[in-house]
Amino acid sequence: MAQHDQQQGTAVPAADSTSVTVLETKDQTPTIRSIRLTKPAGFSFQASQSVRLMLDVKEGRDWHALSIASAPTRDYLEFALRNSESPFKRALYLLEPGDEVRITSPRGHFPFESDRPGIFITGGIGITPFMSTIEYATDSGLSTPLTLVYGNRSPDEVAYKGQLDELAHTNGHLRIIYTVSQPSPKLSWDHRFGHIDRDLLDEVVAGGGDAIYYFAGPPSLVSELGQLVEALGVPRERIRSELFRGYP
Ligand SMILES: Cc1cc2nc3c(=O)[nH]c(=O)nc-3n(C[C@H](O)[C@H](O)[C@H](O)COP(=O)(O)OP(=O)(O)OC[C@H]3O[C@@H](n4cnc5c(N)ncnc54)[C@H](O)[C@@H]3O)c2cc1C
Repeated sequence: MAQHDQQQGTAVPAADSTSVTVLETKDQTPTIRSIRLTKPAGFSFQASQSVRLMLDVKEGRDWHALSIASAPTRDYLEFALRNSESPFKRALYLLEPGDEVRITSPRGHFPFESDRPGIFITGGIGITPFMSTIEYATDSGLSTPLTLVYGNRSPDEVAYKGQLDELAHTNGHLRIIYTVSQPSPKLSWDHRFGHIDRDLLDEVVAGGGDAIYYFAGPPSLVSELGQLVEALGVPRERIRSELFRGYP
């Protein structure tokens, strides 16, 4: 078996992999699709970890690192991906319930520190590790104060909106700040407008106490928002980041 230590590629990673079955696919937004898979017996992971998901494409076997978007407390595994024209994404969009794919064992070190308030800051597809963590904290009845700052281009691009609203309804310790940079002609919006900018982060940091700040998503987004929060006085030792390498 080929040795391969990149985040994605056509060589099969050396790690063991397991076959799992597609249960459901769903368009979360016009550009983001979720895919729910069976959870293998004994598969244990921490909220926010990732796996490598392997698909057969015309060019061979292709695999990508993907954060698990469902909580360890659920009896299925869910992932969500931003659409693109890559062979991997095209193959993924063709999957149907009953199809088999392979996943590696969980990996990654982006742990949720449940004994400290947590502030999750992300945009678009970067929501996946935070879905897992927020779902886990809610299912487990944790009283950790959590804030999610979730930015998107438009209201119809807010992934998992219904599920997030339900989690905020169940979990009295969860606050969600949604913001979009442009309106959508079809959907009403009673949340914020604008990018996640210095003013918004200033407000969050002012009320954040000694919270841990978690950033996830494309490297450019994580680096830009992380730098803003640091400039607002949050020490680096309270900042955690998960880079979705492969996106610009
Ligand atoms: C720890 C970790 C967790 C991650 N979690 C997630 C997650 O939860 N969700 C998620 O979506 N991603 C996640 N990623 C990123 C993921 O692994 C991919 O890198 C990312 O989805 C881009 O893959 P792609 O197949 O769209 O593009 P790539 O194959 O990397 O190609 C890059 C770009 O080139 C274009 N392109 C490629 N091939 C073609 C072609 N033949 N024709 C036209 N255009 C082409 C595509 O439009 C694409 O935008 C994670 C990464 C890491 C490291």
